[in-house]
Amino acid sequence: MSKARALSGIQPTSGSFHLGNYLGAVRQWVELQSTHDTYYCVVDLHALTGGVEPAKLREATLASAAQLIALGIDPDKSTLFIQSHVPAHNQLGWIMECITGFGEAGRMTQFKDKSSKNGSDRTVVGLFTYPMLQAADILLYQPQYVPVGEDQRQHIELTRDLAQRFNTTYKEIFTIPEGYILKAGAKIYDLQDPTAKMSKSSSSTSGIIELLDTSEANTKKIKSATTDAGREVTYDEVKKPGISNLLTIHSAFSGRTIAELEAEYEGKGYGDFKGAVAEVVTSHLDPIRKRTQELLQDKGELTRLLKVGAEKATIAADATVRRAYDAMGLIPRG
Ligand code: ATP
Ligand code: MG
Repeated sequence: MSKARALSGIQPTSGSFHLGNYLGAVRQWVELQSTHDTYYCVVDLHALTGGVEPAKLREATLASAAQLIALGIDPDKSTLFIQSHVPAHNQLGWIMECITGFGEAGRMTQFKDKSSKNGSDRTVVGLFTYPMLQAADILLYQPQYVPVGEDQRQHIELTRDLAQRFNTTYKEIFTIPEGYILKAGAKIYDLQDPTAKMSKSSSSTSGIIELLDTSEANTKKIKSATTDAGREVTYDEVKKPGISNLLTIHSAFSGRTIAELEAEYEGKGYGDFKGAVAEVVTSHLDPIRKRTQELLQDKGELTRLLKVGAEKATIAADATVRRAYDAMGLIPRG
């Protein structure tokens, strides 16, 4: 039997991924490679919704691909590609826009969050239609699973609804995908504001642990993470969101349970614990940063790998667009 397919994407909205991207998403992507037929893409078209500087976007797109490889995505095992290299994403994106209700799109909390931060004059229409393009990104490849962080749950639900709607209205074309969301590490919070998720596009990077930042900078950020009143290192998401976030991060890297960590730091206070978190995080990120830098030194090879991925992705994606066009009554060119 052929392997089930999994697909996911990440935006090149920053030169570096952060801990949430890794622990909530990419770590699972790497694991799935041995059991699934995996497709992973750098969704550069989505990054345009945030307003970009062209030079920065170019750099961030290649840095994203390099980081994925450094984190363990193997271009021989996975189809690794850049979204804008496969025009079928825009083609199916339009189809998805044409079957989505305006009110339905308006209920997406990520749109509400991001647009309220920027104000309506600086919010582009693309940010509103983003979940429909994302539905197309997914449905084009007919995956069974979509490994993402908790913040993407609502978008995956919309994707399922749109696939079902298309299948019942026109023709059974789309596989209904399932989100693949972990329990632990699926939402990593900003170290300065532990009630907000860590985000690449945050206005301040002071609470973001970036994979490509130096160990010194990351240690400093962890040591100055907002913590809560009290001294005990105990997990309590409501009363101690800051310490709970650090416990989640330590546990995800060290493989030790939260209970073990609580027992070890009993009576020791926050300072010792933060030092240990900094140590476990930077020792894991060090080799990833070095490997990314090496990969970025050979941009020709990186571009070649991405071309191979795009060619493979195009075959799968074009086949889906042809079937969707036909089902909706668009006639083939002949
Ligand atoms: P942006 O702020 O530009 O939206 P982002 O940090 O949210 O960037 P995305 O590229 O939108 O990152 O998402 C890539 C993957 O990382 C998605 O699967 C998303 O669910 C996951 N992810 C993003 N932030 C977190 C987080 N704080 N904790 C866990 N997973 C996260
Ligand atoms: Mg995001």
